[in-house]
Amino acid sequence: MKNSTAIGGFESLGLPKAVCQYLAKRDIVVPTPIQEQSIPVGLTGSDLIGIAQTGTGKTLAFGLCLLERLLPHQNGLVLAPTRELAHQIAETFTWLGARCVLVVGGESMKRQIAELRGRHDVVVATPGRLIDHLQQKTYKLDRIGVAVLDEADRMLDMGFAPAIRTILGQCPSDRQTLMFR
Ligand code: AMP
Repeated sequence: MKNSTAIGGFESLGLPKAVCQYLAKRDIVVPTPIQEQSIPVGLTGSDLIGIAQTGTGKTLAFGLCLLERLLPHQNGLVLAPTRELAHQIAETFTWLGARCVLVVGGESMKRQIAELRGRHDVVVATPGRLIDHLQQKTYKLDRIGVAVLDEADRMLDMGFAPAIRTILGQCPSDRQTLMFR
């Protein structure tokens, strides 16, 4: 009984039953406050700004929205300030069953190029390395349907504003943008 009420918790946010069951099987049954507030808005296709600390479930909040909103020919993009955070986000997408390419500095460009050429749902990137790919024309952002900026304030503090402007400027103008800080 507890579980069915809790599944209703995620379902009432507008997520498909199959997704809620997938989460419930993995003991994710009660939405956290950031999930409760951001998922219904994100699922409408609106842009949003979410404010939540690390550890409050925000990765799942934007991850679930992004995967639900993507059309079949589209890719999602998540920008994060550090390699470590990008790794964690990519793990969450893989856990959700998405094909994810991790594009961070300090790792083989060649392998990233091969993965970016292959079929994928989501690219999780740090801004600097993604700019390298755009400059070398090894990736184009013309299929991005949803762009997420995670820890956006930290990215700005780290001087990534010009890179973020360039990246978003190359995404389709009708994309959805989810910003978290
Ligand atoms: P995050 O804030 O995205 O770093 O998430 C922190 C941790 O909380 C991760 O291990 C998630 O799997 C877990 N988590 C996210 N949402 C929920 C939830 N609704 N119920 C239980 N655990 C959750």
